Amino acid sequence: MRIIRVRYRDRSFYATITSPETLRCLNNEENLPDDIPLAEVELLPLVRPSKIVCVGLNYRDHAHELGLPMSDEPVLFLKPPSSVIGPGDAIVIPACSERVDYEAELALVIGRTARHVSEADAPRHLFGYSCANDVTARDLQQKDGQWTRAKSFDTFCPVGPWIETEVPDERALAIRAVVNGQLRQQGSTADMIFSPARLISFISGVMTLLPGDVILTGTPGGIGPLAEGDEVSVEIDQVGFLLNPVISEGPADPSAVQ
Ligand code: MG
Repeated sequence: MRIIRVRYRDRSFYATITSPETLRCLNNEENLPDDIPLAEVELLPLVRPSKIVCVGLNYRDHAHELGLPMSDEPVLFLKPPSSVIGPGDAIVIPACSERVDYEAELALVIGRTARHVSEADAPRHLFGYSCANDVTARDLQQKDGQWTRAKSFDTFCPVGPWIETEVPDERALAIRAVVNGQLRQQGSTADMIFSPARLISFISGVMTLLPGDVILTGTPGGIGPLAEGDEVSVEIDQVGFLLNPVISEGPADPSAVQ
């Protein structure tokens, strides 16, 4: 089942896609037609997470291209909920960075509170899968030494276009990043060092995962820069296709600083 979040007639709700042109509301909303035309809704950011937990260096070829050693445990960092945008929303390059990269990643959406869950139990706590772009200010990541600023700008976490609840084999998904129609990243979740179940189990041993929380599972090799005017898509077979334009932040408004 594919689940999206939409605004329709001034109401926001989750809905399931019932045909290429229609969707059906999943919330208890009154006075809505059974079949709502997709063309009449506004797509909203898919999730409103309490946190986005990200995994660095979960593919060997990406660790290699950054010249960083691999860890025997997942390396975690966070992105703030305010960084989330939806399909079609613009990624904004901040004025203080000269190198902003795409990172195509498989996103896991938590459906059930998870704390100290085993790897075997982890799938019970997973709601579904989506595409995500772990947008990164690479120059600031290297300058700061830790990653919070580089990963946390508004618009730096596109997620979507829907939550896919049924994936036959999460360890055999082709994943790509395409910029302006050119293939830039191509990998497979088969090459992940730590599996989705291992990540949910490991992270739940650190912090309570709440419904709606998102885990970004790392990016394969092939990262590269974005520029104003680009269109970047994250494509994962059997999961979805997430497209976002790229714009630059205007010059700082001096009147805003008092
Ligand atoms: Mg990443």
